[in-house]
Amino acid sequence: MIPRLSIAPPDRQIEPAARAAFGDALSCNGNGACFNFDADDAMCPSWKVTRDRRHSPKGRAGLVREWLRLLARQGVDPSAGHGEPSWLTLPRRAWHSLRARCGEPDFSHEVKAAMDGCLACKSCVGQCPVKVDVPAFRARFLAAYHGRYLRPPRDWLLSLLESLLPVAAYVPALYNGVVSSGPGRMLLRSCGLVATPRLTGLRPEPSLARLGVKTATPDAIGRLSPEERGRSLVLVQDAFTGYFETRLLIDLARVAQALGYIPWLAPYKPNGKPLHVTGRLAAFARAAARNAAMLKALETSGVPLVGLDPSMTLTYRSEYRSALGEAAPQVLLPQEWLLRALAGRARPARLGREFQLLPHCTERTNAGSAADDWKSVFAVFGARLDILPSGCCGMAGTYGHEATKRDLSERIYQMSWAPIVARAGRQGRLMATGYSCRSQAKLIDAIELKHPIQVLTALVEAGSGP
Ligand code: SF4
Ligand code: SF4
Repeated sequence: MIPRLSIAPPDRQIEPAARAAFGDALSCNGNGACFNFDADDAMCPSWKVTRDRRHSPKGRAGLVREWLRLLARQGVDPSAGHGEPSWLTLPRRAWHSLRARCGEPDFSHEVKAAMDGCLACKSCVGQCPVKVDVPAFRARFLAAYHGRYLRPPRDWLLSLLESLLPVAAYVPALYNGVVSSGPGRMLLRSCGLVATPRLTGLRPEPSLARLGVKTATPDAIGRLSPEERGRSLVLVQDAFTGYFETRLLIDLARVAQALGYIPWLAPYKPNGKPLHVTGRLAAFARAAARNAAMLKALETSGVPLVGLDPSMTLTYRSEYRSALGEAAPQVLLPQEWLLRALAGRARPARLGREFQLLPHCTERTNAGSAADDWKSVFAVFGARLDILPSGCCGMAGTYGHEATKRDLSERIYQMSWAPIVARAGRQGRLMATGYSCRSQAKLIDAIELKHPIQVLTALVEAGSGP
């Protein structure tokens, strides 16, 4: 007679608190839709480039479930470890890290290796049939993992970046000199970073002030007449376009002005996304709360908030929502605002110039009609826009700047973007919405892809505006 097994199924061995905290990993039903082989599809670049199942959403979800099960057997609750570990635990974490270096086995390291390969591109969130959110449970795993093991210096640099850039922008020559010099590059590489971008030498506030764009405060917006308020928008800054592509922010203000609108500039506050990506969840929650409080105070005026970079802007809809609920501000993508602003304006009978767009993969997979919205906007400007199918560019925020990932990042670019850029990149009609994507094309192919806002600025200046 076969004895009746009394061992609970693996997932049932996970404690309820851990099941709740890592629900995204437990919801994977194993259907395998994430094993996508189409190079021109956004779904899971890390799986596609490695063909290693541990580097797929399903593989990562399975590893986290097993990790939770093993922790449950040891009586450890990983859901309790999302706060920033105290400095007092530094010696203990240093000791654990040393033992790990000496080869002490811990299943956590295998989970960590799988999480390290993830680009946090969020294509799984948009394309998995049950919306398995790998970046969400990855961040929770990293928070718990670094409660036991030290963080690498790279994590600290990346999470400080948003606070560092506005200060560095006062001395751009010094910053650029350091990141471009041989010793500076060696120092950054020793901290795990490569191909660090250079500042533009412009700062958003004075640059926009020269266009007559004022800083948005609740008082200043509150003093506007209803008619002026109806024609206003608040530009929400992000560190990357603000300091590495300042002219793009200026162009957005110019397009708004050309359409008869009054752009305002929200005061700069870190968005916090790099903190989330590195799993510094308590620090992310604090940064998000500060930024959201400022933006919410502006939002109550009824003036729309408009971001520029898709990845940073969509953070307000996912990570901010998860952390803050209703206190998360509503920030529009530029094309969403443009569609509203252009409502009712005549569309030319014939579309003249033709352009092509490679949307950021988070935007393509997580923001509904966002890519098609650009088509509608361009049609009002008398231009035809084709949205090209593509995979991930491989940069994904800071992923492609991490020394250990640079090779994979370039291989991901070669799978889909490289042939498209080789075919269409030099004709000046190929655009990309993501800051990361444009910087990847510049780094690898030495091609400066334009953002759609830059093309619209040129169309407006050429008299093709609506
Ligand atoms: S597509 Fe989603 S549910 Fe299906 S195996 Fe992949 S992660 Fe799991
Ligand atoms: S975030 Fe991107 S790389 Fe990571 S598992 Fe999801 S699809 Fe794959």
